[in-house]
Amino acid sequence: MIQRLSIIGVGLIGGSFARDLRALGLVDEIVGHGRSLGNLQLAVELGVIDRAVVKASDAVHDADMVLVAVPVGSIPQVLEEIAPALGDKTIVTDVGSVKQSVIEAARAALGDRFANFVPGHPIAGTENSGVGASLEGLFRDRQVILTPVPETDNAAAAQVNDLWQAVGAQVTLMDPAAHDRVLAASSHLPHMVAFTLMDQLVRMDEHREIFECSAGGLRDTTRIAGSDAAIWRDIALGNREMLLDLLRQYQFDIAELIGAIERGDAKWLLETFNRARRGREMLNKL
Ligand code: NAP
Repeated sequence: MIQRLSIIGVGLIGGSFARDLRALGLVDEIVGHGRSLGNLQLAVELGVIDRAVVKASDAVHDADMVLVAVPVGSIPQVLEEIAPALGDKTIVTDVGSVKQSVIEAARAALGDRFANFVPGHPIAGTENSGVGASLEGLFRDRQVILTPVPETDNAAAAQVNDLWQAVGAQVTLMDPAAHDRVLAASSHLPHMVAFTLMDQLVRMDEHREIFECSAGGLRDTTRIAGSDAAIWRDIALGNREMLLDLLRQYQFDIAELIGAIERGDAKWLLETFNRARRGREMLNKL
């Protein structure tokens, strides 16, 4: 049971976590902090948090646990702001989609308290953002990856693990670099592809006709291009090296595709599309 949970960034992920813990009766009081008053007011109106606090350092006062759920690029600044106000035993955890750069920022900002920091990433979400998009049950049957490092306190990691399990998630432990490599492929590259594809189409003069003449394929392929731009700007920059490797490979593969079409290489196209189709079938079965 948590007496006081502090959520820094009461959006889709932070708000959904708060909703679940409240519904399960696992927390006495939830304090929220964010930048815009409008979002925090809505969070109070929706009953997601009990009260909103304007300063991040005040929001973590006397908290048993702090969940940092802001865009990855804002995590270093948030950790620096809250560090002096953290209690000796306050557990700090995050939900950032990138882990190595966040862990480095936490190590630098938290000093002696770094052992109480449990890096995490729920593999759940939607393309919507803000507390209005938060949902009860968002994490049920979804994976949550925790990436503790050797310094991480075992009891702190166990408590964070228990909370994620309580909200119905399956917790997996992973090395931070392995997390960033896998997520670069499973999530970050697909988002970059969707954003650039949609951007290419919307810059075309006849984009209205293109959209009107589209069926499910365009919608399915670009659904995630509706995601929050600031969140994804930060992920692209936060997982730079891993993402660049994959984007260069993608650039190479697109060049191969262009070559095959230019030379009328039906065999290459058929083999490539069939290999992709088998991959998609594998994905469907998981
Ligand atoms: P979101 O809905 O936009 O929520 C982020 C919240 O953080 C917003 O309510 C925003 O409040 C607040 N915020 C932004 N900058 C801040 C700052 N400097 N100080 C204090 N509050 C700040 O985004 P989200 O989708 O929940 O993502 C939050 C984190 O979860 C990100 O690190 C993301 O990488 C990670 N994540 C996202 C997903 C997903 O599918 N969306 C999945 C897993 C993990 P204001 O509106 O007041 O600015």
